[in-house]
Amino acid sequence: MAEEKFDIIVVGAGPSGLAAAIRLAKAGLEVAVLERGAFAGSKNVMGGIFYRHPLETLLPYFWKEAPVERAIVEQRYWMLDSQGHTGGGVRSQRFVGDKPNCWSVFRAKFDRWLAEQAEAAGVMLLTEATVESLLQENGKVIGVHTNLEDGDLWADVVVIADGVNSLLLRDLGVHPEIKPNQAATTVKEVITLPAEKIEDRFNVEPGQGVSIELFGSLTKGAVGIGFLYANQESISLGVGVLVSELARLNLKPHDLIEDLKSHPSIRPLIAGGKTEEYLAHLIPEGGYRTVPRVHGHGWVAVGDAAMLVDSLHREGSNLAVKSGLLAAEAIIQAKEKQDFSAAGLAPYRQALDASFVMKDLKKYKNMSHFLESNPQIFNVYPELINDAGTAFFTVDGKTKREMQATILKMVCQRRGLFGLARDALQGGLTLR
Ligand SMILES: Cc1cc2nc3c(=O)[nH]c(=O)nc-3n(C[C@H](O)[C@H](O)[C@H](O)COP(=O)(O)OP(=O)(O)OC[C@H]3O[C@@H](n4cnc5c(N)ncnc54)[C@H](O)[C@@H]3O)c2cc1C
Repeated sequence: MAEEKFDIIVVGAGPSGLAAAIRLAKAGLEVAVLERGAFAGSKNVMGGIFYRHPLETLLPYFWKEAPVERAIVEQRYWMLDSQGHTGGGVRSQRFVGDKPNCWSVFRAKFDRWLAEQAEAAGVMLLTEATVESLLQENGKVIGVHTNLEDGDLWADVVVIADGVNSLLLRDLGVHPEIKPNQAATTVKEVITLPAEKIEDRFNVEPGQGVSIELFGSLTKGAVGIGFLYANQESISLGVGVLVSELARLNLKPHDLIEDLKSHPSIRPLIAGGKTEEYLAHLIPEGGYRTVPRVHGHGWVAVGDAAMLVDSLHREGSNLAVKSGLLAAEAIIQAKEKQDFSAAGLAPYRQALDASFVMKDLKKYKNMSHFLESNPQIFNVYPELINDAGTAFFTVDGKTKREMQATILKMVCQRRGLFGLARDALQGGLTLR
């Protein structure tokens, strides 16, 4: 392995690294992907909903072959309180059919399949290969130092796709250690159930599924969310809160998911199921303001390593794939010019800025601050919305005018009309 030189080395076989690797190999470049896990996906955790776009631009109709679970026909949002939930959602055949919008997936299966596509395109995949540091010379990245025997490998460009809290970007000095309010600790259980039970409980046809994003009491007042996704023969149930909030409120992720499993709206959906897996992982939540430098002399950073996650819309894997593809295009151009300097790789940053990835993150650039500085969103509104909803539907002999007065009194006592108007205005400005 010593003295081995590739055109490109990709560190990490997640969706960002593999998308970049496939695109580069298809352009005829010699590419090695180094993955620390026993196989691609073995270390990966995701809720997880995987979107058709943008992977289909690289692998048309990939879902016909790929190990996807269920095409998501209905997307729901539930605001929980201790007694139940208030919810909404959209169900449409437009989400499924010939070109589904998204699927539930297991990353251990999906990434492994994607890695096979990379190998079929000519990529050399090295597993149980941990990159310990970058090789640098005169400010240029020239390769990687690995745990492999004689394991220094060289390349014109290293694609840093090692996921959240990237050790390699920290070593480069472009990304400080992630702060506790910039990442969410997320725990997830995979709970097995027969396919027919899932189809009955979620009112879906075979092959179709439902996603439910959960807000409110499940995070005990902390900034965070939960999710429930229907897989082929299991449910993925998870909850995540900012690391800083775990400390502030003395919460334990394990307790949060245990409580969620016994919540009256969740319990019937998972009844009779068996927990097969328990997983925990960080999700980058810092958004636009925490995106580090994404290119330099001899390197580019993609996906979670570059903090490219839009948590408000539950999008991460698609931003990962898109950034990998954009980085690959810039590297192909750099190769044509034999210019792997920061200037030669700058088209990656320009393309990223012009894409939905940075535009969306920029749109929500104040979201993290808004959520953190307005705890009432997590500790007042869930209860208030559910109590108001319950009052609205309760028939107890009171007139509708009395019912409206009861709701108004709740709002005034718990948040105040001024507070409500202020939250609506600030929230609207943050989301605009
Ligand atoms: C619980 C949870 C739920 C989520 N739900 C969704 C969802 O529903 N939809 C969605 O779109 N996104 C979701 N995301 C986000 C999504 O998982 C990420 O945005 C996406 O996986 C990022 O891909 P990536 O390739 O950049 O990084 P990763 O998928 O993290 O891949 C990084 C890879 O690098 C490897 N690696 C790390 N360090 C080294 C090293 N030093 N040497 C070699 N290999 C290394 C790792 O083993 C890993 O395989 C979720 C995330 C979590 C944690």
